[in-house]
Amino acid sequence: MPDPTCPICGKPTVPALRPFCSKRCADVDLGRWITGQYVVPGPDTEDEEALLDSKALLDKKGSLG
Ligand SMILES: [Zn+2]
Repeated sequence: MPDPTCPICGKPTVPALRPFCSKRCADVDLGRWITGQYVVPGPDTEDEEALLDSKALLDKKGSLG
């Protein structure tokens, strides 16, 4: 079984800071995560469209019934 390594820099993991090797790398990962969450580039609209589509289908069904 290979030793666990830090997903940020690839150094050996420190058990207290798993899965990272240092507080710094944990912060880097957290920063990436937060930016991924709050800075959403375009493709989100696709989900919205799909949502509207399914709602339209439900409305049609409703008017038929
Ligand atoms: Zn690291």
